[in-house]
Amino acid sequence: MTLLGGGPAGASAAYHLAKYSAASGASFNITIIERESRIGGRSTTVNAHDDPRFPVELGASIFVKVNRILVDATEDFNLSSFGIKSANAQAPGPELAVWDGERFVFVQYSGSTWWNIAKMLWRYGLAPMRTINLMKSIVAKFLKMYDEPVFPFESLTQAAQDVGLLDVTTSTGEQYLKDHSVSGDFAHDIVQASTRVNYGQNLKYIDALTSNVCMATEGAMSIEGGNWQIFDNMVSASNSRKLLNTEVKNVERQKDGSYVLGFDAAYGKASDSLTHQSFDSVIMAAPYQFANVTFKNALQHIPDSIPYVKLHVTLFTSPHLPSPAFFNLPPDQSVAKTVLTTLPKDEEPGKGSKSCGSPGFFSISRLDTIANPTNGQTEYTYKIFSPKPIDHRFLSKLLGIKHDDESATVTADEKDVTWVYRKVWHSYPYEYPRVTFEEIKLDDGFYYTSGMESFISTMETSALAGKNVARLLHDQWKMSKVEFTPQPWDFTTRIG
Ligand SMILES: Cc1cc2nc3c(=O)[nH]c(=O)nc-3n(C[C@H](O)[C@H](O)[C@H](O)COP(=O)(O)OP(=O)(O)OC[C@H]3O[C@@H](n4cnc5c(N)ncnc54)[C@H](O)[C@@H]3O)c2cc1C
Repeated sequence: MTLLGGGPAGASAAYHLAKYSAASGASFNITIIERESRIGGRSTTVNAHDDPRFPVELGASIFVKVNRILVDATEDFNLSSFGIKSANAQAPGPELAVWDGERFVFVQYSGSTWWNIAKMLWRYGLAPMRTINLMKSIVAKFLKMYDEPVFPFESLTQAAQDVGLLDVTTSTGEQYLKDHSVSGDFAHDIVQASTRVNYGQNLKYIDALTSNVCMATEGAMSIEGGNWQIFDNMVSASNSRKLLNTEVKNVERQKDGSYVLGFDAAYGKASDSLTHQSFDSVIMAAPYQFANVTFKNALQHIPDSIPYVKLHVTLFTSPHLPSPAFFNLPPDQSVAKTVLTTLPKDEEPGKGSKSCGSPGFFSISRLDTIANPTNGQTEYTYKIFSPKPIDHRFLSKLLGIKHDDESATVTADEKDVTWVYRKVWHSYPYEYPRVTFEEIKLDDGFYYTSGMESFISTMETSALAGKNVARLLHDQWKMSKVEFTPQPWDFTTRIG
């Protein structure tokens, strides 16, 4: 059996297949083929100043208490997790604020979660409580997908219907909240800030399942040193054969139902020699449209290409705090550690690549306070999510850096911005309302996990998709064993 992709879905599939096999006596030889030099996919860290003491999440950074697979794995592998608050406790300024491009529409000074209900009640009335109740009932329905009789599911569309979530996936976040008497400022200021930072999308277009999931922030955590360790440990625990720096280039279905994969074992280096190997089954644990794989015999089901958010992530360190002037604040006021954005009230929400609108960025987070490894000065680690590149001119303005020659192009120099790292991701799909989802079984013996991303795109849901196909494969093995094991009635027939 082979797995194409060593992200959360692939790692979880390998881990759970090994677990099911250990319990039943099945033996699967698992090969994981991953084009990068590491396991984790969109869960990965880079080190500020290239110093391993300062890892920063470049992709998926947070999971929450109800994420059963990730929380269990964190315990099983003895990994240390930390909450959002402890990460930047030393930094000055309010915890969080929502900026509409002109002014802050919401500021939260402290609190154990990024939005503190008690403090919101006076301002938004019953809307916060109603939103929480809606979110809880949706999460409760979603959690049914982990257990029998829904799990394992051969069809995501059927599973969504069985747990009662299709009315949520087919509605927009805005409409769903309106239908449940949540509208006005709370939806605009708070829920939309959350859909923008988590998915780069406005409430008017994102589906109601995703917008509600964005509000499930209780017990938000990250793994000390990087979330990728969960997936790396899953792969190690599965005793799989791991082929890193290896890209699957083509797949050919054979007459006997097996698949021959052609892969480039020197991905990224100039080489055009492919290795070919046959596998009885394949799990494709990566979005079909970005996998760059040619299929020599078409599969029964080919996943549709869907639009993904193109997200620019900019990490940097600086001894400067953000300038109050950048946010139209008086000079004596500190800027919040996390600045999320919504739109000005009179701005029509954009769709797709136009989602960000006039604020120009989705979020600016001050993650940590560190000592510069060269000169020991106190610095802050920042992360910006934006739809376009963040240049030094933007950073200079953000940090309020003045230059002697005001007419010169404003650029932050090395003493002001001491380290920068940029990455553009296809981070997650535009989560538009949908009635149906991609097939899980693309052909006999060929499974696909990434259809889950149009339902909910998170590390946990991908891990669930991986666990689900592991169980389907395992159950298939059990059935074939029953088919080929002589049964008592076979003897009776023969004797008779
Ligand atoms: C900036 C950002 C922020 C995010 N924030 C969060 C968050 O806070 N919380 C959260 O839960 N989720 C978050 N996500 C989403 C989360 O990262 C994804 O939902 C999750 O990683 C999807 O897992 P996956 O295994 O399905 O796919 P991926 O993580 O993309 O893994 C697929 C793997 O397949 C490999 N691959 C692809 N094609 C081939 C090929 N032909 N041959 C070999 N290997 C191949 C890729 O290299 C990759 O490693 C974020 C994502 C981004 C980018």
